[in-house]
Amino acid sequence: MTKDIATLLLALLLCHALLLVHLLTVRGTVLGRRPEIRLLLLAMLAICVGDLLLMWRQQLSGPLWLLLSNTSIALGAVLLSAAARCLLTGRSFSRCDLLLLLGGAIGLALLLMQGAAYAWIVSWVNLWLAVLLLPIPWRVMRHGRGRERALRMVLVGGLVGGLSALARAADPYLATQAPVSLLQPTSPLGAWLFLTMSFGAFSIMFGLLMASFERSAAQLEQMASTDGLTGCLNRGATRTLVGHEIERSRRERRPLALVLLDLDHFKRINDSHGHAAGDAVLQGFAQAVRSRLRHSDIFGRMGGEEFCVVLPSTDRSGAHEVVDALRREVERLVVEQPGAVRLKVTVSAGTVVFDPLAERMTPSADQLFARADMLLYRAKHAGRNQVQTSGWVSLNPL
Ligand code: GH3
Ligand code: MG
Ligand code: MG
Repeated sequence: MTKDIATLLLALLLCHALLLVHLLTVRGTVLGRRPEIRLLLLAMLAICVGDLLLMWRQQLSGPLWLLLSNTSIALGAVLLSAAARCLLTGRSFSRCDLLLLLGGAIGLALLLMQGAAYAWIVSWVNLWLAVLLLPIPWRVMRHGRGRERALRMVLVGGLVGGLSALARAADPYLATQAPVSLLQPTSPLGAWLFLTMSFGAFSIMFGLLMASFERSAAQLEQMASTDGLTGCLNRGATRTLVGHEIERSRRERRPLALVLLDLDHFKRINDSHGHAAGDAVLQGFAQAVRSRLRHSDIFGRMGGEEFCVVLPSTDRSGAHEVVDALRREVERLVVEQPGAVRLKVTVSAGTVVFDPLAERMTPSADQLFARADMLLYRAKHAGRNQVQTSGWVSLNPL
């Protein structure tokens, strides 16, 4: 099978241009506004310009053409690297990227000015690309563990692309015939390496695109189930999880505690210090409660200043102890506000515990919530800043 690099280059240019059009189409959407996607778009633009210049080599031959086309492609590689860094660490460019780009371009310009043999130029350009591409897989290995699955394709693409470029740098010295052009392979291996290097770069591009898409989807999913002010689960997500926990408790025959917490006289804080101060108290409260819960516990905001905590595998005395510790923690909480204002707050709680070993009937989520609400009401009437705890007894109403 013969592989004509000029034809391969045309196919690549069309693929790059198609991806560029796709990226331009999503500009202004949730995906298109992501910083790594903007960098990817610029990378595609630079690579397409580089491809075009290489395609027009007949009309634009000469050292300047070589310098411009290769610098444009190297700029594309720098932008790909920046997109990967942006996704993995939140930072885009580093000084090192710019130095490598400039250093490579200056080296190439010097070689061209001295009229160096093509073997040197081919080696230099491919070494330059390898140095730009190989940090990408290294960065994925360092920062990408446990992150988006599509990053694996970035890792594979970076390794294949970078190592192929390294091998292409050595190819002119291993081949029997001297290269006469950057696009003229000196051995059958040379054409294959051009192909694998290009596909490595494609794998980086598509991998980054998919990883960015994965990240957006995960963020949207999180936003749909999380309360923006406190970072707790929202009402819908909490109710869904309570249903699952009741079912798990019944199946595994372990007790389950459901707690409703309501801040005492919270309206007074809003009325005296403003809504922003009230928001700060809600955030401080959520942080204080979260710091005392286990990883397996559920913590949700049911609305306003009412919260829900679910304690799996916790019996009645254990639940009372935990919730009273939460109450004391909130009692100690001081929320600092501008102007040396120190806000304090207390909380009342109603805790209901379902023990499948003691109770044959399994309550629904609504029934458990209604019972916890009754207990909370009792705590409020008994003077607030206290916890009322009861077992779930299906036959005897409170
Ligand atoms: P009680 O001890 O009986 O629970 O009294 P309370 O003042 O805490 O309860 P009430 O239901 O009278 O008032 C709740 C207040 O919570 C009223 C509402 O303005 C405020 N609130 C609800 N959501 C938010 C919020 O997101 N931010 C702020 N700052 N205030 C909120
Ligand atoms: Mg309240
Ligand atoms: Mg309330």
